Amino acid sequence: MNSKLYLVPTPIGNLEDITLRALRILKEVNLILAEDTRKTGVLLRHFAIPTRMQSFHKFNEHRKVSRSIELLENESKIALVSDAGTPSISDPGFLLVRGCLQHNIEVECLPGATAFVPALVNSGLPSDRFVFEGFLPHKKGRAKRLEALKMEDRTIILYESPHRLVKTLNQLKEVFSKDHKVSVARELSKIHEENIRGNLEEVVDYFSNAQPKGEIVIVISPVL
Ligand code: SAM
Repeated sequence: MNSKLYLVPTPIGNLEDITLRALRILKEVNLILAEDTRKTGVLLRHFAIPTRMQSFHKFNEHRKVSRSIELLENESKIALVSDAGTPSISDPGFLLVRGCLQHNIEVECLPGATAFVPALVNSGLPSDRFVFEGFLPHKKGRAKRLEALKMEDRTIILYESPHRLVKTLNQLKEVFSKDHKVSVARELSKIHEENIRGNLEEVVDYFSNAQPKGEIVIVISPVL
């Protein structure tokens, strides 16, 4: 069978971070499934890629999985991209990958951009063992998840939105302690990239004085 699903990482800010293979695959596939066709359209125009697109996002994911599998069973090559970074990492993708594997359709994720790896490496915190927690739940289950993190002996990585950052850092300060080490990566690969490192008290002070903007990853040192 000639069908294949490619998961293609796209830049998290800097357009130069797309790989040569990602560009070739996006040109060669029959269809690109995109989280936001307008955003991906900008990328495709920039690299002069004429491949047609369809939307694939968390609100139509269930319906689109079966339709995409039907297409793939008819010898299609399809690429899935998200707005930024690697599909299926805090983004749609898992359901389609699982569905393809259940139907014996080949799946290949290209290596490429994702936010949590540079945030972890820039942090200077141990990178030999880590746990990626994605976004914390906003309400239900949040306190329980924070409490579980207290016991974690690996470096912890969280995705966060700028308007929740100070609240989350304050909650982390309550769970851990004010002296606990943390690093906040903001706007990775973009003009205003910054990595603010220190203990929780210092980092809360920093962001309380300068309301953060842009995209954010929090990296917290393990409890040793
Ligand atoms: N699939 C993406 C990946 O591979 O990293 C993640 C998508 S998730 C919907 C978006 C979150 O990723 C943001 O809220 C932020 O936490 C993180 N993120 C994405 N781009 C970033 C950047 N340039 N700098 C810092 N964090 C970023």
